[in-house]
Amino acid sequence: MVIEMANLLEVKDLKKYFPVRSGMPGFGQKWLKAVDRVSFTIAPGETLGLVGESGCGKTTVGRSILRLTKPTGGRVFFRGTELTALNGRKLRPFRPKMQIVFQDPYSSLNPRMIVLDLVGEGLQGVNPQKKKDLVVAVLERVGLSPEILYHYPHEFSGGQRQRIAIARAIVLQPELLVCDEAVSALDVSIQAQIINLLIKLRQEMKIAYLFISHDLAVVKHISHRVAVMYLGQIMEIAPTGRLFANPLHPYTKALLAAVPVPDPEFKRERLLLSGEARRGTDMDEGCRFAPRCPYAENRCHREEPPLVAVGDGRQVKCFLVKSK
Ligand code: SF4
Repeated sequence: MVIEMANLLEVKDLKKYFPVRSGMPGFGQKWLKAVDRVSFTIAPGETLGLVGESGCGKTTVGRSILRLTKPTGGRVFFRGTELTALNGRKLRPFRPKMQIVFQDPYSSLNPRMIVLDLVGEGLQGVNPQKKKDLVVAVLERVGLSPEILYHYPHEFSGGQRQRIAIARAIVLQPELLVCDEAVSALDVSIQAQIINLLIKLRQEMKIAYLFISHDLAVVKHISHRVAVMYLGQIMEIAPTGRLFANPLHPYTKALLAAVPVPDPEFKRERLLLSGEARRGTDMDEGCRFAPRCPYAENRCHREEPPLVAVGDGRQVKCFLVKSK
């Protein structure tokens, strides 16, 4: 697929900190750095997978970009406009352009609303007949019959509900869709159907996705590039094929080593993690992965490695991987 390279979304040094108590008398406010200086871009029509273990901050990245939570710092640009400099009314024109699909289709749809109103809720200033026509068209686009217009969410399966949630997001013709564990609550066979639907919509509507998931197999299938997060920071970002064929960061290697490979001839470097994860507070020094990294050197516990370009469109945050 040819991707237009001017950025649709640019995220620079995004931070989201939460206050925590230090537990030590005499010490002031401490911060849990849920997202700490995260930077990446997404081109129009591109899918960036954002992976990492539960609690690594990937959901907070998505929510901060959409301003569902206010970032502590950093800048977010959408088609060159700095969203982080806008508030209230000035942000409103950008809302339809950036939509989100959540993990749980059972709780993300209002149970008291019929499908017509759920899907058409964001259509402002549109007469009832036009709204109905638009909703019918978008239902057909996501593989649902117009006959469901007057039904309630509880009448549908999980996969059908997620299709309704996707219809609700795309009816506004967004340019960016944040999919936050959008298939994680579904059975594997239904997951594949929803992923194929998202790929079809990407081709038809040129939508870009920030695809947040802990499931590497799913991310591999849908993403053009993948960013690997660990404790609030990006450890590696690379085109999907290169990342899976040759992971460079020790954490990426460990994540991939945990994924079963169907080919018995395939040998991947086994890297098993030990040690306790840090919490990512402002008391931490050095590389955040150091307590669990089998290659950690003395300086890894004192200095933080930079995220550097290593060629082939890849960036890696590890002292052992040299920049180019
Ligand atoms: Fe491991 Fe050091 Fe690289 Fe961090 S910088 S991933 S601790 S080798």
